[in-house]
Amino acid sequence: TDFGFRRVAKDDKQHLVEKVFTSVASRYDLMNDLMSGGIHRLWKRHFVATSGIQKNHRVLDLAGGTGDIAKLLIPKVGTEGHVVLGDINQAMLDVGEARLIDAGFYGRFCCRQMNAEQLPYDDNHFDAITMAFGLRNVTDKQQALNEMYRVLKPGGKALVLEFSKVNQPFLKKLYELYSFKLLPEIGHRVTGDRDSYQYLVESIEKHPDQEQLKAMFEQAGLDMCRYQNLTAGIVAIHTGFKL
Ligand code: SAM
Repeated sequence: TDFGFRRVAKDDKQHLVEKVFTSVASRYDLMNDLMSGGIHRLWKRHFVATSGIQKNHRVLDLAGGTGDIAKLLIPKVGTEGHVVLGDINQAMLDVGEARLIDAGFYGRFCCRQMNAEQLPYDDNHFDAITMAFGLRNVTDKQQALNEMYRVLKPGGKALVLEFSKVNQPFLKKLYELYSFKLLPEIGHRVTGDRDSYQYLVESIEKHPDQEQLKAMFEQAGLDMCRYQNLTAGIVAIHTGFKL
């Protein structure tokens, strides 16, 4: 394709990610449902339900996009808690803000544009930070994890839900067929934008596997790092604590 993601320099990645998400923002939720057959909703619900996040927690939902995770977090932290929806892309945040207000959560969250590599907070600020399907889009992933560690309070928890590596050979073949052949085609038909979905597939392919990401959590200084595979490792939840 002319998009040439494979050819661009690392410094240009942020610009590309910006372009991709701005172009899909208004159709993003519909696409998630179509591409995953609705399963992303189950993964996200499981992610938040098992997060250990409690009433009165102050939580940052990083790369929060259109607010799927924030929508589940807000009832969990209650009126005593607070959720920040943080994303680098204002178009995604605008969709997210409107959805959360529609859901009746006015005044219980705030939206803030931010880069995961350089969080606009002092040290020791949040009880938990969630990041769902966001880390693979960040240019310097280790730096994003270091920043999560820095702004977590001691005792705070980092949680990443992300595409990972499928651990069953047969399923892996099917999944590759689906993602390389079918997915960009669906993307093209629904949004008229094949390149953005080509980017999506490539970013999944390049993302560190379960053990590599766990090692990066440890490298950031997080303790008790572990992961849980969902749907045979199509996605995994990585967690770690700042102790
Ligand atoms: N968390 C949401 C969800 O699960 O539906 C949105 C995920 S969406 C696939 C990825 C998001 O990451 C986009 O909204 C994009 O703008 C954001 N993003 C990409 N790079 C980022 C960065 N460096 N810092 C913060 N957000 C970033």
